[in-house]
Amino acid sequence: MLTGINKIGDLEWEVPIGYVPEMRVPGRFFLSRELAETLEEGAVRQLANVATLPGIVKHSLAMPDIHWGYGFPIGGVAAFDMTEGVISPGGVGFDINCGVRLITTPLTEADLAGKKREVIERLFAAVPTGVGGKSNLRVSNKDLTAVMVDGARWAVERGLGIEADLVRCEGEGAMPGADPGAVSAKARQRGLPQLGTLGAGNHFLEIQVAREIVDPEAAKTFGIAEGQVCFMVHCGSRGLGHQVATDHLRTLESAAAKYGVRLPDRQLACAPVDSPEGRAYYGGMVSAANYAWANRQVIMHEARKVFAEVFGIEYDEMRLIYDVAHNVAKFERHDVDGVLTEVCVHRKGATRAFGPGVPGIPREYAAVGQPVIIPGSMGTSSYLLHGTKAAMEKTWGSTCHGAGRVLSRSKAKKEVKGRELREQLAGAGILVRAHSDSVLAEEAPDVYKPSGEVVRVVHEAGLSKIVARLDPLGVIKG
Ligand code: 5GP
Ligand code: MN
Ligand code: MN
Repeated sequence: MLTGINKIGDLEWEVPIGYVPEMRVPGRFFLSRELAETLEEGAVRQLANVATLPGIVKHSLAMPDIHWGYGFPIGGVAAFDMTEGVISPGGVGFDINCGVRLITTPLTEADLAGKKREVIERLFAAVPTGVGGKSNLRVSNKDLTAVMVDGARWAVERGLGIEADLVRCEGEGAMPGADPGAVSAKARQRGLPQLGTLGAGNHFLEIQVAREIVDPEAAKTFGIAEGQVCFMVHCGSRGLGHQVATDHLRTLESAAAKYGVRLPDRQLACAPVDSPEGRAYYGGMVSAANYAWANRQVIMHEARKVFAEVFGIEYDEMRLIYDVAHNVAKFERHDVDGVLTEVCVHRKGATRAFGPGVPGIPREYAAVGQPVIIPGSMGTSSYLLHGTKAAMEKTWGSTCHGAGRVLSRSKAKKEVKGRELREQLAGAGILVRAHSDSVLAEEAPDVYKPSGEVVRVVHEAGLSKIVARLDPLGVIKG
């Protein structure tokens, strides 16, 4: 472990005030000894830098998938006071509301026999992929405004899904407070042709099997059984969200100086939550977040149609378990020293993990806590977990968002050969379809931390509890 950091629990570490100058609160992160060698000093420094920002409450936090990001570390969670505190695009990430959804099917692995290649090819044809992947939908500027306000509901109202899908999304698939006026013409232009597209690289549509049920009661509540075939969608707000982040970073870089916020790193550009600049970013961010929920809804719709056609099953036999955001800032009520207080929670590569009975989770799941979806990699397990009371107490109701990268994209390309990898995965029964083998190299299982160990840490630390382990069977990548 790095020097200057204190162990405060089996899996809990503290970055004391003074690790970098002007920290207002300590940093805290969750990590096992096994994962210690993956810890980058730069990411810990970023965690400490976040602790210097005005109005930060309690701790600057990071999950075991922590790694270096733009300004804030990925895997980072930080809550800010609504009057003294700030809002920062670096605490959300460029892919606003990147997130994951998990859908069950009535199929078992045996039903896929002899049809896996066909279904993967048809999914690849039905869901546009790649950096410049173009939408099959015709979306007008007026439609786009509605998408940014209504989120997933926009798609459901157009027949791209069913009403029941909406309650099974975080925030019912939209956040209030969208301000489409805070989305530039350029951002709109980028978003118009991309609704319902997966994007590139790390984004995927994956067929999985529920290999192991760890918590049978919770699995029953979530509607998943051992041996069941599922699919998972991971993507975000495409060019629209990226442009919203880029545009507002520029204005917030000067706003920080205007409000007298001293930044240890320009990438922490921010403004008071309650300032014209802060509110404008929030309204633009919400618009992009809602676009992302509509995006995942459209992709799920296309995938359902493919499964229905290939396997002769009904559209509504494919049940959405849940949809989570892992790059977003939200106004939430949390217990601060015994008082229920509204704070601005930034989750950047972190997943909300609200525990049992917490307002804001679907009624059908209230007794268990919200579903938490943690992808692994195209060659390792992904997990379904549930939120906990401990997460409410320690991490503003948050947990990790994935395994977390250990090798940069450029390094990965040098070390891994895409074609060999594709053949190796095929040997293990995992069919991969991508635009190019070089994309595959960037996304090889080895570029990520071992998902099982990352998830073990959040499970043992109590930040979320494992419900089921899902193994990959086939994946389409952007
Ligand atoms: P991010 O949003 O940070 O790009 O990615 C979230 C997580 O998705 C990564 O940390 C990694 O664990 C996981 N991931 C990336 N590619 C794949 C994939 O092809 N399949 C699965 N199941 N997970 C992936
Ligand atoms: Mn993303
Ligand atoms: Mn993501």
